[in-house]
Amino acid sequence: MFSHFSNLPSMSVWGIFIASIFSTNTAFAQDRFAKVQITTQAIANNVYMLVGSGGNIGVSAGHDGILIIDDQYAPLAPKIQAALGELSSTQNTDEIVPVKYVINTHFHGDHVGGNAHFHDNNGATIFAHHNVRVRLLDNAALSQSSLPVVTYDNGISIHMNEDKLNVMHFAGHTDGDSVVLFEEANVLHTGDLFFNGLFPYVDLDNGGNVQAYIDSVNALITQIDEQTKIIPGHGPLATKADYQAFVSMMEATYNAVKSQKAQGMTLAEVLEIGVAEQYASYDWRFITEARWLATLYHSQ
Ligand SMILES: [Zn+2]
Ligand SMILES: [Zn+2]
Repeated sequence: MFSHFSNLPSMSVWGIFIASIFSTNTAFAQDRFAKVQITTQAIANNVYMLVGSGGNIGVSAGHDGILIIDDQYAPLAPKIQAALGELSSTQNTDEIVPVKYVINTHFHGDHVGGNAHFHDNNGATIFAHHNVRVRLLDNAALSQSSLPVVTYDNGISIHMNEDKLNVMHFAGHTDGDSVVLFEEANVLHTGDLFFNGLFPYVDLDNGGNVQAYIDSVNALITQIDEQTKIIPGHGPLATKADYQAFVSMMEATYNAVKSQKAQGMTLAEVLEIGVAEQYASYDWRFITEARWLATLYHSQ
């Protein structure tokens, strides 16, 4: 039933669901990912964006080695490894260019699925907010090598490839979100604190909160400028203007639902009214307009 989704961006709940059935339906999983291609987009000096299926991957690649931000689904890890190999200057194609560091922006399966591969085959050290490790530990199906090794509260700075990567904790999508700001390259990887052109997923069951998400986006917007290139969790490469349009949509739709609730409307009545016409295009298969309105209605 999922095969026709293979060319679309893949989302967290599907990721968790798919991860949970790997053990019983490997053939299905292989089929789902067999057609996925990893494409590489050069963003700035030493910085790249990899797109396949799942959360967009940010890459720092240079003489200090390779760091990746998120690693999509486990079955895609060999393809991601191959794409990273092509970024290297080495002509020896048999040689693995190891990933030194992995940063997980949060614990969802479409962002952490490759952790075990890069830990076991590359010796990568995995970094994440404390709560990412806590939530991954709850998943008995995951191996020890999937877990972040270095965890932090507010953030951490990584100095490599002539840049300073500020890894910063922000709340809203889950309770363990991180973003990464490349100071020199002027690139921001937002994790799932940005779904470019799409209604966002706010994981209310795992510490997500609509107002916290909005506050985080507004805080991040003050830290970037018109030249900043933004790698969103999902959707195409973006600018500050795209991020502003996205948070304006969140604020407008949230304010509308809050006022409808204050008038005593039920969720059914809110769904009947729908979002303002200008925001209808944010609807997509995973977060439909109805699901977004329900999230707004239930977020405290
Ligand atoms: Zn997510
Ligand atoms: Zn995601």
